[in-house]
Amino acid sequence: MYFNRGKYFFKQIFFEMPNNILLSQQLIQIPSYSGVNKEVIEFLKNYLEKLNFTCDIVEFSSSDSYPVNNLHAIYNPNNSSESLYFAGHTDVVKEGDLERWTYPPFAGKIVDDKLYGRGASDMKCAIACFINAVEIFLKTNPKPNFAIGFLITNDEENDGINGTKKMLEWLKNKGQKITYCLVGEPTNPNQFGEMIKIGRRGSISFKLTVHGKQGHVAYPQKALNPITILINILKLLKDHKFDNGNEFFDASNLEITHISSPNSGSNVIPNSAYCEFNIRFNNIHSSKSIAELIEYVCQKTVGLDGKYQLIHRVSGEAFLNSPKKLATIVSKALKEVTNLDPELSTSGGTSDARFIKDYCSEVVEIGLVNETAHKIDEFANINEINQLSEVYLKILKSL
Ligand SMILES: [Zn+2]
Repeated sequence: MYFNRGKYFFKQIFFEMPNNILLSQQLIQIPSYSGVNKEVIEFLKNYLEKLNFTCDIVEFSSSDSYPVNNLHAIYNPNNSSESLYFAGHTDVVKEGDLERWTYPPFAGKIVDDKLYGRGASDMKCAIACFINAVEIFLKTNPKPNFAIGFLITNDEENDGINGTKKMLEWLKNKGQKITYCLVGEPTNPNQFGEMIKIGRRGSISFKLTVHGKQGHVAYPQKALNPITILINILKLLKDHKFDNGNEFFDASNLEITHISSPNSGSNVIPNSAYCEFNIRFNNIHSSKSIAELIEYVCQKTVGLDGKYQLIHRVSGEAFLNSPKKLATIVSKALKEVTNLDPELSTSGGTSDARFIKDYCSEVVEIGLVNETAHKIDEFANINEINQLSEVYLKILKSL
């Protein structure tokens, strides 16, 4: 452990790298669940103001959610036609069962070259890395020909109502344009440098109730079994090939998540049956076209005798940011630092990139390894934190 930390300090001294690890620890040490968290947002504001950023803490509230503090910070805004933004979130998910953590979740303890703590992977270290990269960059490039911005929310992990989405409108109303945007979500499944994200699948969830006619199992001709109808619908949908995927997307997929029936006896055909399912779909479809298809299958299968009720909720549309200048720069920087050729992927869950894509010309997600995100004993490798700082610095230098 001492040897490894020694190597790290060696690097600090000889390459004049400000302490990105210390900054990561400081952020982890401020517990910041989704919502109003002035402490973590003010900490970042104070830090960035020392680097001559103009900062605003923007609080949004609404009747349908809790209030949230967000931070906007901008360097060199008037002098530039282009801007590079870093978007991220300071909020973390709950630590869960404290007893199961090997080290306290908000201590930011370093053991065997790993920095432990809630938010290490997702995504406080990435925020620290970008600040660190900017700090080094501005020392030799105090007047870059592009503006540098931070868009930091404290509400990505929860409902996100008063977070990034509203900040983007706020920026638009101010006339502040985002040209390129990096999102610091942890993008790598196993190893730093293997994957960046240039889009995401869409997600739509369905709740289906089929109404039949209750009766005795011995006299099925006098009843209408809703479970049979439900199974037929689900079989058709599960067997349906939505598509074969394309260059950047896997094939769309349906997963059944729940089946039940309020039945009281083994000799009773029940009155209704209920199921839930979710479809992760690629950019060949929209949530509307998927919903229409499901409705059609239900109508046809239920037939004239039966009734059904179908409701759906869209979590996000599929999107693809065709890789352009920023994706090329990010891939090259990763290759130089890690010697890996990153996959340009659209896999995984949703992120705030789905909102940001509508406000900029290119958004790319590049962060640490997501293996321990949201888990007990979340950590980030010190070596990979340093690599991420280097990658961000190379991106700033290449723009
Ligand atoms: Zn995250």
